[in-house]
Amino acid sequence: MCDRKPVGDIEDISLVRRFFDAVSHSMGNLSRDASHDDLASQAHHELLEFKGYVHSVESLACLEGPGNRFLAFWSGCKARCTYCSNPDTWEITAGKETKVGELVEKVGRMVDFYRPNGGGVTVTGGEPLVQYKFWQRFCMRLNRYFGLHTCIETTGQGTRRAWDTVLPHTDLALVCLKHPKPEGYRFITVKKDLDTIPWWCRYVVIPEWTDKDEDLDALIEICKGSPMCKRLDLLPYHTLGVNKWEEMNLEYPMKDMQPPTKERMQYVAKRLRDGFAGTDIIVTGDDQ
Ligand code: SF4
Repeated sequence: MCDRKPVGDIEDISLVRRFFDAVSHSMGNLSRDASHDDLASQAHHELLEFKGYVHSVESLACLEGPGNRFLAFWSGCKARCTYCSNPDTWEITAGKETKVGELVEKVGRMVDFYRPNGGGVTVTGGEPLVQYKFWQRFCMRLNRYFGLHTCIETTGQGTRRAWDTVLPHTDLALVCLKHPKPEGYRFITVKKDLDTIPWWCRYVVIPEWTDKDEDLDALIEICKGSPMCKRLDLLPYHTLGVNKWEEMNLEYPMKDMQPPTKERMQYVAKRLRDGFAGTDIIVTGDDQ
């Protein structure tokens, strides 16, 4: 789902010292909570033992939601977007089998980096709604231990059961809108569900494919029609994932497509901002 490549777990050596400082404090929080009676219950144990498939994690991300965030790329996605940057997340079992407890522990090691600026945890993919029960259980334990802000980045391609399961545990949704026209994308049902929590629209700008005036006008209509839409992030199409298609012996369908120019991004952003005049929807992404 996420339109950037996973860069892996924390590597910046300057953060390592702070990381270990945070570990002792945060693990103290964890073990304090772990002494609670609830820990002894079978239900609690089962939540921590619940397994899902995880492609990779980043312990310190800052683009996928507010503040500093723990970012998890979950595997599994049937969308098969023609410009997918992460085709290695398509198959669920391509990810590493991981327990909820393992992820909670990773978050616990860094929790002091997330709290001060309203950060938290974001799950992307792949399509996180494929493993919606994993997200639900992960959030339940996150809330139990840390009370962190939770965010899901999705194309919206989930069943009603999936949405009904994840929304009560989710503070913010980043919705990557693949195309604004209904016939191109089953968005309408999801939009109704999303009106119960804030959501940010993620929109990939592909020259001639998604940046025509009529597309942008349709996009404005969708976002303005949802009172909980708070922000629109423009993501310029890029080719960073092409090598993965080659490694997987897949033919990349958009070989001749070029990223949009800076001028085109600025045009798109201006048209959208004009369209959102009088609302509180902000537009980002034309400064990259
Ligand atoms: S195929 Fe799935 S993971 Fe790839 S861009 Fe589309 S929604 Fe995202």
